[in-house]
Amino acid sequence: MPTITLDAISKQYSRQATAVQNIDLHIKSGDFMCLLGPSGCGKTTMLRMIAGLEHLSQGRLFIGDQLMDSPADGCFVSPEKRGLGLVFQSYALWPHMTVEQNIEFGLRLRKLPERERRTRTGEVMDKLGIASYAKRYPSQLSGGQQQRVALARMMVLKPKVLLLDEPLSNLDASLRLEMRAELKRLHQAFDTTILFVTHDQWEAMTLATTIAVMSEGQLQQVGSPDDIYARPANRFVAEFIGNPPINQIAADSTLGSRLNSQPDTHMLGIRPEDIHLTQAATPYALPAKVQGIMPTGGSWVLDLETEGQCLQLSTQIRPQVQAGEHTFCQIQPEHLHLFNTDGHRLEN
Ligand code: ATP
Repeated sequence: MPTITLDAISKQYSRQATAVQNIDLHIKSGDFMCLLGPSGCGKTTMLRMIAGLEHLSQGRLFIGDQLMDSPADGCFVSPEKRGLGLVFQSYALWPHMTVEQNIEFGLRLRKLPERERRTRTGEVMDKLGIASYAKRYPSQLSGGQQQRVALARMMVLKPKVLLLDEPLSNLDASLRLEMRAELKRLHQAFDTTILFVTHDQWEAMTLATTIAVMSEGQLQQVGSPDDIYARPANRFVAEFIGNPPINQIAADSTLGSRLNSQPDTHMLGIRPEDIHLTQAATPYALPAKVQGIMPTGGSWVLDLETEGQCLQLSTQIRPQVQAGEHTFCQIQPEHLHLFNTDGHRLEN
């Protein structure tokens, strides 16, 4: 039973601006779904429509089996009646309340007894490492600290569905890592359904059980992180996921025609981590010249030239070659991603 169902939803802010176009999506109960895509692709608009902060232009939105928004049926359920927890990148904390009071506020609205309010507020502050500034006001906090308070305020309510829009964007790298781990634990511990908006592929890969990749208001692929990485549905997904990015080889180039004989192929993709150096001309080995070597802290990125084509290779094994050297690189056919002229994946 899906928790949230989007049935052919679209959002047009104006006649020229279609932010979201005809999207079908099921978010299953207990899922940790990341909406991933570049800036302006419509992620926040999707979240705002689910939350009820924007009306759909077309389509139907269900939470559980209850219809929440359908312009054709004249149906719209207001945000506070949707039973969702929300944390946005720009979180509005109550400026006249201390951190503790901000977190406790939702529990007060629910008229929970004082003892339970205190215990739950204390627990969540400890978990998020914000107990030491419980008595401070939001204006006395850094951006990252405010972001943690906003998360705490939401988590204390233990909502069944959490909508998070880049909630970690103001945190420094180490805190971000900690908060990711905390979110993952929370998701497992409370059996919450989470929809998480990010443009950070690494964040999506590490957190999500399902990733929905968006571009220009449209869904490109929905799948597990493994799926999205190993079997990108189209060139957009192949290019967007992976760092360094996937190498692209035109099928009609010298290298392309050596690697592939399928007539439908327009473009071949090979991930930098799927190319390996070898000293000898083994099967599938191609002569290559090392143009440059870049250490990236525990791994290395090599620029290679083979058959007149520049390729990037990445490896966690210290390279035994120098820039300028001639060597061989191996590209296994099963690691190639093939795309047709429309950019769609072909099975190889
Ligand atoms: P970011 O990662 O930068 O936050 P996003 O993927 O969340 O981007 P949205 O904020 O959903 O993207 O915006 C999608 C498109 O809709 C953009 O082209 C944006 O300019 C447009 N848009 C968003 N809000 C409005 C609005 N209130 N009025 C008109 N156009 C809007």
